[in-house]
Amino acid sequence: MRDSLALTSRPEVISFAGGLPAPELFDIDGIRSAYEHVLRESGSRVLQYSATDGDPALRDAIARLLARAELPTVADDLLVTTGAQQALYVLAAALLQPADVVLVENPTYLAALQVFRSVHAQVVPVPTDDDGIVVEALRELVAEHRPRMVYLVPTFQNPTGHTLPADRRAAVSRIAAANDMWIVEDDPYGELRFRGERLPLIASYEESAQRTILLGSLSKLLAPGMRLGWLRASATVRAACAVVKQAIDLHSSTIDQAAAAAYLAASDLDGRIARARLLYGERCDALLDALARTLPRGSSWSRPNGGMFVWVRLPDGFDTTALLPAALAERVAYVPGAPFYAGAADSSTLRMSFSAHPPAEIREGVERLAAVLDGRQWDGRERS
Ligand code: PMP
Repeated sequence: MRDSLALTSRPEVISFAGGLPAPELFDIDGIRSAYEHVLRESGSRVLQYSATDGDPALRDAIARLLARAELPTVADDLLVTTGAQQALYVLAAALLQPADVVLVENPTYLAALQVFRSVHAQVVPVPTDDDGIVVEALRELVAEHRPRMVYLVPTFQNPTGHTLPADRRAAVSRIAAANDMWIVEDDPYGELRFRGERLPLIASYEESAQRTILLGSLSKLLAPGMRLGWLRASATVRAACAVVKQAIDLHSSTIDQAAAAAYLAASDLDGRIARARLLYGERCDALLDALARTLPRGSSWSRPNGGMFVWVRLPDGFDTTALLPAALAERVAYVPGAPFYAGAADSSTLRMSFSAHPPAEIREGVERLAAVLDGRQWDGRERS
């Protein structure tokens, strides 16, 4: 599949595969000015080694972002990481022993599964419905496996786009507190809401505040190429994570952190987020409309209120992994659902990202996909 996905970057392919921010949203001039500013004003500092915890001004700016999301936070609560991906790795390495059980939503973020497997944790999938993790199932699996950790993407999940309602967030918090379990709340998409009201972060629930590690990222707000993320955790967890991070890269890039801090101080971030929400909302609607018009009867799909992903289920019997080469031949790409499952996979699922294409391209891409599905049998072979 890695080989197939490499083909998705060919220019003639309309790819719903990657979770790429819309390039039109990159503020190239603003970011260039931020780099120029820090090089001019403090060149010898930003080209030097720096502290593992991260740039104080950047941590302040992130703390303000979180406080705005109704999670009181100070700079000292945060460890800056090289993307949220590194935050995931350092906390897994710091908190898990081989064979420790980690519960995950089924399906879940593919690269989180890779992290947990790389530290030899035992990953146990928890069933989900259209609202995310099913609380009853979580309760039963906690009793059965005594897990060390539950990993969740509660808001605009990758890959499904689902959002966990407030009552389930409260239940997760209570279950973790009663069972001495870490909660990892991965929230790279929370600011990208284009419908509905913001929900409380699980990290804001009192019972589990000390056992929740919140991950965030500048990838979807500024630029993923800067590789800046963070984790917010108790002092003990942060210290353990900092030791692991030191072993990996000593600290995240000094100049990139300084430029991000300068950018956040000078720019109208609210305005930029508002623009992103509008753009992604339009693109999401374009995809949902096109799916409704073209997918075979019996298909279903998620209707996200934010983020970048729609999760599609084709009628029983379709195998999206087997269909991918035919889709690529039609110059359209997606990610088959199978690798997102920690347990038995539903092979008729696929993930489509709407963020990187204007509506007209989205419509064209879905038409190409529909043409592939129309001409195929369930196993990807051409109908005779
Ligand atoms: N968590 C989730 C759920 C993601 O979707 C992603 C990005 N695809 C990440 C973490 C990693 O993000 P970053 O670019 O900050 O490393």
